[in-house]
Amino acid sequence: MEKMNLKGQQLLLNTVINQGLCVQCGACVGHCPYFNFFDGQVMAMDTCRSETGRCIQLCPQVEHEKASSDRPLDIKSDIKSLEKPIGFFKEIFIARASKQSIRNQAQYGGIVSSILAYALNKDLVNFAVLTNRGSGIAPEGVIAESESDIFACAGSRYSSSASLSALNKAIHENKRKIAVVGLPCQMESLSRMKLMDQGKDSIGDRIALAIGLFCTWSIKYRELTQYLIHEGITSKIIKYDIPPPPSQLFMVQTHNGWKELSLDRVRPYIHKGCSFCLDMTAELSDISVGTVEDKKGWNTVIIRSDAGMELMNMAISDSVIETQELPKKNLEHLKKAAGNKRKRGLAALKNKKMNNEYNNS
Ligand SMILES: Cc1cc2nc3c(=O)[nH]c(=O)nc-3n(C[C@H](O)[C@H](O)[C@H](O)COP(=O)(O)OP(=O)(O)OC[C@H]3O[C@@H](n4cnc5c(N)ncnc54)[C@H](O)[C@@H]3O)c2cc1C
Repeated sequence: MEKMNLKGQQLLLNTVINQGLCVQCGACVGHCPYFNFFDGQVMAMDTCRSETGRCIQLCPQVEHEKASSDRPLDIKSDIKSLEKPIGFFKEIFIARASKQSIRNQAQYGGIVSSILAYALNKDLVNFAVLTNRGSGIAPEGVIAESESDIFACAGSRYSSSASLSALNKAIHENKRKIAVVGLPCQMESLSRMKLMDQGKDSIGDRIALAIGLFCTWSIKYRELTQYLIHEGITSKIIKYDIPPPPSQLFMVQTHNGWKELSLDRVRPYIHKGCSFCLDMTAELSDISVGTVEDKKGWNTVIIRSDAGMELMNMAISDSVIETQELPKKNLEHLKKAAGNKRKRGLAALKNKKMNNEYNNS
């Protein structure tokens, strides 16, 4: 019989993938040649005999307790703290791209795309790991090298893209000055990658910028697609939107216009693994970006590191973006939403631990 390597792939399969807990961040895909991402799902293609088990060390679904350890960055984090539900930060404000043409293509204020394009033009980054639109197949990670590549990825896909697989590809191709845009789970994996590989020419050395997106949850691609077909949505999707509460809507734009669906119909397709996530505002990034309640076309921006601060200050002084103060009411709402996610996550983790202990007793 095959000897099971319970340190590596088999452990990841047993504890995460086969339990339906994978959130498709893509950290293991391409890092290990035996994992692949196809049609919205990470799967093992063959048995791996490696003893190192890097795949499991990178997985954001494993060992959340270690998430608060020191980072090789000037980003501090205590992802379990209920006192600091949006994490440590240097500045928080609202902003949008100065150019209307950028905002038109973007999800909200176009801050992510505009600061990336700016960083590329200023030679601060040479490549950006992003999520493409996917036409018919699931969204997936891509390596953007030009402004047009960046704008082609604008907009939010609410299913996960395993886009860190594109980062693994970029690292294998020896690329440098890489920016990564991702969800909080992906910022967690990215942070682990940096922790594991430090020093000159390390992964940490090659990643110039990490932009994290706020995220409450993401949806399973296959199930979402089936549901949209059931709703008669079969043509190419131009844009998705989840307007802030109390709307309770999941909106889909095709060439026939916008269709409003009930958010409750989509909730059953949320990744099971998202219920254990403690981080709504992507605390382990240089810059975190989300929506602004009650102010259409703007982003909430959280600056967490010196690198993030420097880039933002440059973009502001070159009038690439415009900023305003974050209204106090919005800050309170954001903290409340992030705190609620953290409380739910901590309760789910506690339950899971109790169940595991019960099953092992
Ligand atoms: C799954 C998901 C859940 C989200 N939940 C929330 C939330 O609860 N609250 C909130 O305020 N904001 C949430 N957002 C963030 C929000 O939708 C916008 O991405 C963010 O405000 C940036 O807006 P922008 O106009 O600057 O983006 P743009 O300039 O349009 O850039 C968007 C960037 O997002 C990247 N992207 C798109 N889809 C994905 C994906 N699936 N995974 C990783 N990267 C992706 C693209 O590569 C692109 O670079 C969520 C986003 C996603 C993808």
